Amino acid sequence: MSEIKKPLLPEMLQMWQKTLSWQPDAGHLLEFQRLYELILEGNQQLNLTRITQPRDFWEKHLWDGLRGVSPLWINADDWRVIDIGTGAGFPGLPVAIARPDWQITLLDSTGKKTAFVQSVIDKLGMENAVTLTGRAEEINRHPQHRATYDLALTRALAPAPTCAEYALPLLKIGGLAVLYRGHWTDADTDNLSDTVTKLGGIVDFIERFSTPLTKGERHCIYLRKVAGERVTEFPRLVSTPDRHPL
Ligand code: SAH
Repeated sequence: MSEIKKPLLPEMLQMWQKTLSWQPDAGHLLEFQRLYELILEGNQQLNLTRITQPRDFWEKHLWDGLRGVSPLWINADDWRVIDIGTGAGFPGLPVAIARPDWQITLLDSTGKKTAFVQSVIDKLGMENAVTLTGRAEEINRHPQHRATYDLALTRALAPAPTCAEYALPLLKIGGLAVLYRGHWTDADTDNLSDTVTKLGGIVDFIERFSTPLTKGERHCIYLRKVAGERVTEFPRLVSTPDRHPL
């Protein structure tokens, strides 16, 4: 196997402070660096991510992942969180590193991906993260998952209405789903609103921002579950939410 270069991630303490009013401590920085190295290593076997340069990784995996949850940072002790379609562990792993009090389930339908994420959890000795292999549509039918989460994250998973159908049934009443999106328009919000209503939720708020280094356009859509009734038929059977969004 070829020798793997292990470039150092930038610390960006002031940038974290300025943009998220939060700074990683020495322990967080070590874990971010170790995560980065494990991703680079894993990328040799698996197609995990194309984002491999240190500043890119910092911006698009670490910063982007935490930016989505930063509005929820306070009054959120000991939350139960699920990252749906986590892939190589994003945004779930950076969030789990930054919030050791949150219990995070990293869900993906591909066993190779969850096996990799589990190896990262083991190597970092993380006690607040577990992996789960399966499809969101099926996981939703299990009583130990359905309507049990405070927060559901979806990034680069599916069209927004599909993400809503996967995420909202997993939430407790009052829980939030975060849809990490790039470009987003009012028409997208209109299109999503009907779906969210059917699922017993509301579009609570939307944040628009640019990534701090390359100024990429981002939106995070925050859905809140407000009702528990009428939603038992959702999500529909495997692949239906993806092929025929509500
Ligand atoms: N969230 C990551 C990965 C995005 S790729 C990131 O932002 O980098 C989308 C991932 O979702 C893939 O790993 C795929 O296996 C998984 N996925 C797609 N549909 C799914 C479903 N219905 N349930 C669970 N995982 C799903």
